[in-house]
Amino acid sequence: MSLITLKVSNLKKSYGAIQAVKEVSFQVKPGEIFGVIGPNGSGKTTLFNSILGQINSDFGEIIFNDQNVSKLSALELSRLGIGRTFQTLQVFEKMSVRDNLIVAAQEHQGTMWSRIFSPPNSGLDSKANDLLEKFHIAHMADLMAGQLSYGQQKLVDIAMAFMSDPTLILLDEPCAGVNPHLVSDIGALLKRLNEEKGGTFVVIEHNMDFIMNLCHRIMVMVEGEVLAIGTPDEIRSNKQVLQAYLGN
Ligand code: ADP
Ligand code: MG
Repeated sequence: MSLITLKVSNLKKSYGAIQAVKEVSFQVKPGEIFGVIGPNGSGKTTLFNSILGQINSDFGEIIFNDQNVSKLSALELSRLGIGRTFQTLQVFEKMSVRDNLIVAAQEHQGTMWSRIFSPPNSGLDSKANDLLEKFHIAHMADLMAGQLSYGQQKLVDIAMAFMSDPTLILLDEPCAGVNPHLVSDIGALLKRLNEEKGGTFVVIEHNMDFIMNLCHRIMVMVEGEVLAIGTPDEIRSNKQVLQAYLGN
């Protein structure tokens, strides 16, 4: 097993004159929960999209478990075991909660042909039920996703990402718009999944309590650059961070 799960080196991405990611390097260790914080527009989502092959970066290298994955597509990365959730909900409102999870796993499994020629839902039903149980939304499995509250749909969204058994998962603002009670549920859930399955998480979030309680280490981004990387205690007491971010 590699000593480093994810290594991002000298990543850069501009949109015309806007340098969304000026220069970012960091490493995430196996089993680590790594937080990413920073003001709106500091380049966090662009960083995720570059790592995940959703956009082409201008410069830089992404290594996943000793393999250079800089040029791979989103689908290839997903097959290697990298999952993600988006800042905006990706659930299908008119589909049942359970079917949302099943479809997410089928997308990961591949082509239309392999789906047509393999038995429907082979094993995915019970996997979906297990996850819904873990996420405390099993009683909602047969409801249409659109009938759930926004916070509950966020849970469905996160569960969908776990259907493909990712070993590395990138979560973009899992708590945005979620009520405080559910925020602590999501935190506890992610902690449990991390401990039970030993997965590696990178989490963007604005909710400081959530990030400080959940993460082993945190990276602070400001204007497309890394201001600091450290443990929650180190970040809390970092003067530059306090001035640039936590202070306002
Ligand atoms: P964050 O997730 O930290 O809020 P983003 O990565 O979404 O930041 O955005 C970083 C900067 O890049 C912002 O100035 C944003 O307006 C700009 N940006 C992001 N995506 C695009 C795009 N597709 N086209 C043009 N500018 C973009
Ligand atoms: Mg963002």
